Amino acid sequence: MTTKPLLLGSDIFGHTGRASGHPLAWPKTAPTLDVIRSLDWFDPEQYLTGSKAFPRRLRAFHDQGYIDAAYDAEARQEVPPDIRLKYGLGSGDNPIFPGVIERAATACGVALKAADLLMDGGVVHSPLGGAHHVHPARAAGFGYFNDLVLGILALRDAGLTRIAYIDLDAHHGDGVEAAFAFDRNVLTLSIHEENCWPFSGTESDPSYRVYNYCVPPAFNDSEMAHLVRHAICPIVEEFAPEAIVIQAGADSLEDDLMMKLGLSNRAYFDTIDTLRHMAPRIWVTGGGGYNPWAVARCWAGIWCVLNDRDPGGAPAVAGEQGIIDGVLQWPTVCDPPENWLSTLADDPRPGDIRDCVKQATKTLLHS
Ligand SMILES: [Zn+2]
Repeated sequence: MTTKPLLLGSDIFGHTGRASGHPLAWPKTAPTLDVIRSLDWFDPEQYLTGSKAFPRRLRAFHDQGYIDAAYDAEARQEVPPDIRLKYGLGSGDNPIFPGVIERAATACGVALKAADLLMDGGVVHSPLGGAHHVHPARAAGFGYFNDLVLGILALRDAGLTRIAYIDLDAHHGDGVEAAFAFDRNVLTLSIHEENCWPFSGTESDPSYRVYNYCVPPAFNDSEMAHLVRHAICPIVEEFAPEAIVIQAGADSLEDDLMMKLGLSNRAYFDTIDTLRHMAPRIWVTGGGGYNPWAVARCWAGIWCVLNDRDPGGAPAVAGEQGIIDGVLQWPTVCDPPENWLSTLADDPRPGDIRDCVKQATKTLLHS
Protein backbone atom coordinates (compact mmCIF):
# COMPACT_ATOMS: atom_id res chain seq x y z
CA MET A 1 0.00 0.00 0.00
CA THR A 2 1.25 3.45 -0.89
CA THR A 3 2.18 5.33 2.24
CA LYS A 4 2.53 8.92 1.04
CA PRO A 5 -0.06 10.71 -1.08
CA LEU A 6 0.95 11.12 -4.71
CA LEU A 7 0.64 14.26 -6.80
CA LEU A 8 -0.02 13.68 -10.49
CA GLY A 9 0.55 16.25 -13.19
CA SER A 10 1.89 16.73 -16.68
CA ASP A 11 4.24 19.29 -18.14
CA ILE A 12 1.90 19.79 -21.09
CA PHE A 13 -0.50 21.72 -18.86
CA GLY A 14 2.06 24.44 -18.38
CA HIS A 15 2.88 24.87 -22.03
CA THR A 16 -0.18 24.25 -24.19
CA GLY A 17 -1.43 26.93 -26.52
CA ARG A 18 -4.59 28.75 -25.55
CA ALA A 19 -7.57 30.64 -26.90
CA SER A 20 -7.29 34.25 -25.87
CA GLY A 21 -9.62 35.39 -23.11
CA HIS A 22 -11.42 32.07 -22.69
CA PRO A 23 -11.78 30.67 -19.14
CA LEU A 24 -10.45 27.36 -20.42
CA ALA A 25 -7.32 29.18 -21.48
CA TRP A 26 -6.10 29.94 -18.03
CA PRO A 27 -3.48 27.41 -16.89
CA LYS A 28 -4.85 26.38 -13.50
CA THR A 29 -2.70 23.32 -13.03
CA ALA A 30 0.76 24.84 -13.48
CA PRO A 31 0.34 27.58 -10.82
CA THR A 32 -1.17 25.02 -8.44
CA LEU A 33 1.80 22.73 -8.90
CA ASP A 34 4.20 25.67 -8.53
CA VAL A 35 2.63 26.58 -5.19
CA ILE A 36 2.72 22.97 -3.98
CA ARG A 37 6.33 22.50 -5.03
CA SER A 38 7.26 25.68 -3.17
CA LEU A 39 6.08 24.24 0.17
CA ASP A 40 9.23 23.48 2.11
CA TRP A 41 8.04 20.05 3.23
CA PHE A 42 7.09 18.89 -0.28
CA ASP A 43 8.89 15.67 -1.23
CA PRO A 44 9.69 15.62 -4.98
CA GLU A 45 9.36 11.85 -4.93
CA GLN A 46 5.63 12.33 -4.38
CA TYR A 47 5.27 13.99 -7.79
CA LEU A 48 4.63 11.85 -10.85
CA THR A 49 3.63 12.75 -14.38
CA GLY A 50 1.17 11.06 -16.70
CA SER A 51 1.21 10.82 -20.46
CA LYS A 52 -1.39 11.07 -23.17
CA ALA A 53 -4.01 8.30 -23.32
CA PHE A 54 -4.11 6.54 -26.65
CA PRO A 55 -7.39 6.73 -28.59
CA ARG A 56 -8.06 3.04 -27.93
CA ARG A 57 -8.16 3.79 -24.19
CA LEU A 58 -10.58 6.67 -24.80
CA ARG A 59 -12.93 4.18 -26.48
CA ALA A 60 -13.76 2.74 -23.07
CA PHE A 61 -16.22 5.65 -22.85
CA HIS A 62 -16.11 7.71 -26.03
CA ASP A 63 -17.49 6.91 -29.47
CA GLN A 64 -14.90 6.28 -32.16
CA GLY A 65 -16.52 8.83 -34.49
CA TYR A 66 -16.31 11.49 -31.82
CA ILE A 67 -12.66 10.72 -31.03
CA ASP A 68 -11.77 10.91 -34.72
CA ALA A 69 -13.64 14.21 -35.09
CA ALA A 70 -11.84 15.70 -32.08
CA TYR A 71 -8.38 14.83 -33.38
CA ASP A 72 -9.33 15.95 -36.87
CA ALA A 73 -10.52 19.30 -35.50
CA GLU A 74 -7.26 19.81 -33.68
CA ALA A 75 -5.21 18.89 -36.74
CA ARG A 76 -7.15 21.21 -39.03
CA GLN A 77 -7.82 23.94 -36.45
CA GLU A 78 -11.30 24.26 -37.81
CA VAL A 79 -14.59 22.42 -37.37
CA PRO A 80 -17.16 21.93 -40.15
CA PRO A 81 -20.66 23.16 -39.17
CA ASP A 82 -22.16 19.65 -39.20
CA ILE A 83 -19.46 18.33 -36.86
CA ARG A 84 -19.86 21.32 -34.56
CA LEU A 85 -23.58 20.64 -34.36
CA LYS A 86 -23.22 16.90 -33.91
CA TYR A 87 -20.40 16.81 -31.36
CA GLY A 88 -20.24 20.28 -29.77
CA LEU A 89 -16.63 20.65 -30.92
CA GLY A 90 -15.62 24.21 -31.78
CA SER A 91 -18.63 25.81 -30.12
CA GLY A 92 -18.21 28.82 -27.84
CA ASP A 93 -17.88 26.62 -24.76
CA ASN A 94 -15.57 24.14 -26.43
CA PRO A 95 -13.16 26.05 -28.64
CA ILE A 96 -10.54 24.31 -30.71
CA PHE A 97 -7.04 25.72 -30.36
CA PRO A 98 -3.56 24.21 -30.70
CA GLY A 99 -2.97 21.45 -28.18
CA VAL A 100 -6.46 21.38 -26.72
CA ILE A 101 -7.28 17.77 -27.64
CA GLU A 102 -3.80 16.58 -26.74
CA ARG A 103 -4.26 18.22 -23.36
CA ALA A 104 -7.63 16.53 -22.83
CA ALA A 105 -6.15 13.14 -23.78
CA THR A 106 -3.31 13.76 -21.33
CA ALA A 107 -5.78 14.40 -18.52
CA CYS A 108 -7.28 11.00 -19.38
CA GLY A 109 -3.84 9.39 -19.30
CA VAL A 110 -3.30 10.91 -15.87
CA ALA A 111 -6.68 9.55 -14.74
CA LEU A 112 -5.78 6.05 -15.91
CA LYS A 113 -2.47 6.33 -14.10
CA ALA A 114 -4.28 7.43 -10.95
CA ALA A 115 -6.45 4.33 -11.16
CA ASP A 116 -3.35 2.13 -11.56
CA LEU A 117 -1.63 3.75 -8.60
CA LEU A 118 -4.68 3.24 -6.41
CA MET A 119 -5.03 -0.48 -7.01
CA ASP A 120 -3.54 -1.40 -3.65
CA GLY A 121 -4.89 1.63 -1.84
CA GLY A 122 -3.57 5.13 -1.25
CA VAL A 123 -4.22 8.77 -2.01
CA VAL A 124 -3.74 10.50 -5.38
CA HIS A 125 -4.25 14.19 -6.11
CA SER A 126 -4.38 15.17 -9.79
CA PRO A 127 -5.40 18.82 -9.97
CA LEU A 128 -5.71 18.75 -13.75
CA GLY A 129 -8.71 17.17 -15.43
CA GLY A 130 -12.13 16.95 -13.81
CA ALA A 131 -14.04 17.32 -17.10
CA HIS A 132 -17.32 16.17 -15.58
CA HIS A 133 -19.70 17.44 -18.28
CA VAL A 134 -18.39 15.44 -21.24
CA HIS A 135 -20.59 12.73 -22.76
CA PRO A 136 -19.55 9.78 -24.96
CA ALA A 137 -20.02 11.75 -28.17
CA ARG A 138 -20.28 15.36 -27.06
CA ALA A 139 -17.84 17.98 -25.81
CA ALA A 140 -19.32 20.19 -23.10
CA GLY A 141 -18.43 22.75 -20.46
CA PHE A 142 -14.85 23.35 -21.61
CA GLY A 143 -14.28 19.57 -21.70
CA TYR A 144 -13.47 17.20 -24.56
CA PHE A 145 -12.82 13.78 -22.97
CA ASN A 146 -14.22 12.65 -19.62
CA ASP A 147 -11.15 11.75 -17.60
CA LEU A 148 -13.27 11.09 -14.49
CA VAL A 149 -15.41 8.44 -16.15
CA LEU A 150 -12.37 6.77 -17.71
CA GLY A 151 -10.62 6.64 -14.34
CA ILE A 152 -13.68 5.21 -12.60
CA LEU A 153 -14.14 2.63 -15.38
CA ALA A 154 -10.49 1.60 -14.90
CA LEU A 155 -11.16 1.08 -11.20
CA ARG A 156 -14.25 -0.97 -12.08
CA ASP A 157 -12.27 -3.04 -14.59
CA ALA A 158 -9.76 -3.77 -11.85
CA GLY A 159 -12.51 -5.39 -9.83
CA LEU A 160 -13.72 -2.65 -7.50
CA THR A 161 -17.45 -2.88 -6.97
CA ARG A 162 -18.20 0.13 -4.75
CA ILE A 163 -16.92 3.50 -5.95
CA ALA A 164 -18.29 6.79 -4.64
CA TYR A 165 -18.02 9.91 -6.81
CA ILE A 166 -18.43 13.19 -4.92
CA ASP A 167 -18.68 16.36 -7.03
CA LEU A 168 -17.95 19.66 -5.24
CA ASP A 169 -17.93 21.79 -8.40
CA ALA A 170 -20.54 24.58 -8.62
CA HIS A 171 -21.98 22.89 -11.71
CA HIS A 172 -23.82 19.57 -11.81
CA GLY A 173 -21.58 16.62 -12.71
CA ASP A 174 -23.96 15.56 -15.46
CA GLY A 175 -21.55 13.59 -17.64
CA VAL A 176 -20.35 11.40 -14.80
CA GLU A 177 -23.85 10.91 -13.44
CA ALA A 178 -25.18 9.86 -16.85
CA ALA A 179 -22.33 7.39 -17.30
CA PHE A 180 -23.17 5.57 -14.07
CA ALA A 181 -26.84 6.41 -13.51
CA PHE A 182 -27.83 2.75 -13.84
CA ASP A 183 -24.73 1.26 -12.27
CA ARG A 184 -25.33 0.55 -8.60
CA ASN A 185 -21.62 -0.10 -8.16
CA VAL A 186 -20.91 3.60 -8.64
CA LEU A 187 -22.55 6.13 -6.33
CA THR A 188 -22.66 9.68 -7.68
CA LEU A 189 -23.32 12.70 -5.47
CA SER A 190 -23.19 16.26 -6.74
CA ILE A 191 -23.58 19.55 -4.89
CA HIS A 192 -24.18 22.45 -7.27
CA GLU A 193 -25.67 25.91 -7.63
CA GLU A 194 -29.38 25.91 -8.42
CA ASN A 195 -30.76 27.20 -11.72
CA CYS A 196 -27.39 27.09 -13.47
CA TRP A 197 -26.07 25.41 -16.58
CA PRO A 198 -26.41 22.51 -17.45
CA PHE A 199 -29.78 22.75 -15.59
CA SER A 200 -29.76 19.06 -14.68
CA GLY A 201 -29.18 17.40 -11.31
CA THR A 202 -32.46 18.58 -9.86
CA GLU A 203 -33.54 15.12 -8.71
CA SER A 204 -32.07 12.12 -6.97
CA ASP A 205 -32.63 8.42 -7.33
CA PRO A 206 -31.35 6.64 -4.23
CA SER A 207 -32.40 3.28 -5.68
CA TYR A 208 -29.61 3.75 -8.23
CA ARG A 209 -27.36 5.65 -5.83
CA VAL A 210 -27.72 8.96 -7.63
CA TYR A 211 -27.79 11.95 -5.27
CA ASN A 212 -28.07 15.63 -6.12
CA TYR A 213 -28.14 18.73 -3.95
CA CYS A 214 -29.06 22.03 -5.60
CA VAL A 215 -27.92 24.79 -3.28
CA PRO A 216 -28.79 28.50 -3.32
CA PRO A 217 -26.52 31.46 -4.04
CA ALA A 218 -24.34 32.49 -1.08
CA PHE A 219 -24.20 28.85 0.09
CA ASN A 220 -21.94 29.15 3.14
CA ASP A 221 -19.51 27.02 5.17
CA SER A 222 -22.11 26.21 7.84
CA GLU A 223 -24.51 24.95 5.20
CA MET A 224 -21.82 22.82 3.60
CA ALA A 225 -20.89 21.34 6.99
CA HIS A 226 -24.59 20.56 7.52
CA LEU A 227 -24.76 18.72 4.20
CA VAL A 228 -21.58 16.80 4.94
CA ARG A 229 -22.76 15.74 8.38
CA HIS A 230 -26.39 14.97 7.64
CA ALA A 231 -26.28 13.76 4.05
CA ILE A 232 -22.88 12.98 2.57
CA CYS A 233 -21.44 11.10 5.54
CA PRO A 234 -24.48 8.88 6.17
CA ILE A 235 -24.82 8.09 2.46
CA VAL A 236 -21.12 7.29 1.99
CA GLU A 237 -20.89 5.33 5.24
CA GLU A 238 -23.84 3.16 4.28
CA PHE A 239 -22.27 2.51 0.86
CA ALA A 240 -18.86 1.61 2.38
CA PRO A 241 -16.91 2.49 -0.77
CA GLU A 242 -13.69 0.83 -1.81
CA ALA A 243 -12.68 4.10 -3.47
CA ILE A 244 -13.83 7.73 -3.31
CA VAL A 245 -13.32 10.02 -6.28
CA ILE A 246 -13.67 13.72 -5.44
CA GLN A 247 -14.08 16.31 -8.19
CA ALA A 248 -12.90 19.47 -6.42
CA GLY A 249 -13.89 22.13 -8.94
CA ALA A 250 -13.11 25.40 -7.19
CA ASP A 251 -15.96 27.51 -8.56
CA SER A 252 -18.06 27.02 -5.40
CA LEU A 253 -15.75 29.47 -3.64
CA GLU A 254 -16.95 32.92 -2.63
CA ASP A 255 -13.91 34.27 -4.48
CA ASP A 256 -14.92 32.67 -7.78
CA LEU A 257 -15.61 35.27 -10.43
CA MET A 258 -18.32 33.41 -12.33
CA MET A 259 -20.51 31.48 -9.88
CA LYS A 260 -22.46 32.81 -6.91
CA LEU A 261 -21.84 30.33 -4.10
CA GLY A 262 -20.12 31.55 -0.93
CA LEU A 263 -17.75 28.90 0.41
CA SER A 264 -14.32 29.55 1.87
CA ASN A 265 -11.67 27.07 0.84
CA ARG A 266 -11.81 25.75 4.42
CA ALA A 267 -15.14 24.15 3.50
CA TYR A 268 -13.31 22.17 0.79
CA PHE A 269 -10.51 21.29 3.20
CA ASP A 270 -12.89 20.11 5.93
CA THR A 271 -15.03 18.09 3.51
CA ILE A 272 -12.05 16.34 1.96
CA ASP A 273 -10.47 15.80 5.36
CA THR A 274 -13.63 13.95 6.38
CA LEU A 275 -14.00 11.94 3.18
CA ARG A 276 -10.38 10.83 3.01
CA HIS A 277 -10.88 8.64 6.06
CA MET A 278 -13.92 6.88 4.60
CA ALA A 279 -12.29 4.63 1.98
CA PRO A 280 -8.93 2.94 1.39
CA ARG A 281 -8.51 4.69 -1.95
CA ILE A 282 -8.90 8.46 -2.44
CA TRP A 283 -8.54 10.24 -5.77
CA VAL A 284 -8.98 14.02 -5.82
CA THR A 285 -9.13 15.88 -9.14
CA GLY A 286 -9.52 19.47 -10.24
CA GLY A 287 -12.48 20.80 -12.19
CA GLY A 288 -13.93 24.26 -12.74
CA GLY A 289 -12.73 27.47 -11.16
CA TYR A 290 -12.65 30.97 -12.61
CA ASN A 291 -10.40 32.90 -10.27
CA PRO A 292 -6.85 31.66 -10.73
CA TRP A 293 -5.71 32.87 -7.32
CA ALA A 294 -8.55 31.10 -5.57
CA VAL A 295 -8.06 27.91 -7.58
CA ALA A 296 -4.34 27.62 -6.90
CA ARG A 297 -4.77 28.34 -3.18
CA CYS A 298 -7.66 25.86 -2.86
CA TRP A 299 -6.02 22.98 -4.70
CA ALA A 300 -2.63 23.53 -3.04
CA GLY A 301 -4.45 23.61 0.31
CA ILE A 302 -6.13 20.29 -0.53
CA TRP A 303 -2.68 18.80 -1.06
CA CYS A 304 -1.76 20.01 2.44
CA VAL A 305 -4.86 18.35 3.91
CA LEU A 306 -4.11 15.06 2.15
CA ASN A 307 -0.66 15.17 3.75
CA ASP A 308 -1.93 15.90 7.27
CA ARG A 309 -0.72 19.49 7.03
CA ASP A 310 -2.64 22.62 7.98
CA PRO A 311 -3.15 24.87 4.93
CA GLY A 312 -3.49 27.78 7.35
CA GLY A 313 0.14 27.29 8.31
CA ALA A 314 1.43 27.18 4.76
CA PRO A 315 2.36 30.55 3.25
CA ALA A 316 1.16 31.04 -0.29
CA VAL A 317 3.64 33.73 -1.05
CA ALA A 318 6.37 31.28 -1.98
CA GLY A 319 4.36 30.32 -5.04
CA GLU A 320 3.37 33.85 -5.85
CA GLN A 321 5.33 34.13 -9.06
CA GLY A 322 3.74 30.96 -10.40
CA ILE A 323 0.28 32.35 -9.81
CA ILE A 324 1.16 35.75 -11.21
CA ASP A 325 2.47 34.16 -14.39
CA GLY A 326 -0.96 32.59 -14.85
CA VAL A 327 -2.89 35.71 -13.91
CA LEU A 328 -1.06 37.78 -16.46
CA GLN A 329 -2.58 35.62 -19.15
CA TRP A 330 -6.10 36.08 -17.84
CA PRO A 331 -6.84 39.78 -17.77
CA THR A 332 -10.18 39.84 -15.98
CA VAL A 333 -8.72 39.07 -12.58
CA CYS A 334 -8.68 41.74 -9.90
CA ASP A 335 -5.69 42.79 -7.84
CA PRO A 336 -5.19 40.15 -5.13
CA PRO A 337 -5.87 41.15 -1.54
CA GLU A 338 -3.03 40.63 0.91
CA ASN A 339 -4.28 37.35 2.39
CA TRP A 340 -4.19 35.64 -1.00
CA LEU A 341 -0.43 36.06 -0.84
CA SER A 342 0.15 35.39 2.83
CA THR A 343 -1.75 32.10 3.38
CA LEU A 344 -3.42 29.29 1.48
CA ALA A 345 -6.43 29.19 3.81
CA ASP A 346 -9.34 31.64 3.74
CA ASP A 347 -11.06 32.91 6.83
CA PRO A 348 -14.13 30.69 7.44
CA ARG A 349 -17.41 31.92 5.94
CA PRO A 350 -20.07 30.68 8.35
CA GLY A 351 -23.73 31.68 8.19
CA ASP A 352 -27.30 30.65 8.83
CA ILE A 353 -28.36 27.22 7.65
CA ARG A 354 -31.32 28.05 5.48
CA ASP A 355 -34.47 25.96 5.45
CA CYS A 356 -33.98 24.92 1.82
CA VAL A 357 -30.65 23.30 2.72
CA LYS A 358 -32.11 21.54 5.77
CA GLN A 359 -35.06 20.34 3.73
CA ALA A 360 -32.92 18.94 0.92
CA THR A 361 -31.03 16.85 3.43
CA LYS A 362 -34.17 15.45 5.04
CA THR A 363 -35.89 14.68 1.76
CA LEU A 364 -33.07 12.50 0.55
CA LEU A 365 -32.46 10.64 3.75
CA HIS A 366 -36.10 9.69 4.02
CA SER A 367 -36.66 8.70 0.43
ZN1 LIG B 1 -18.04 24.34 -12.55
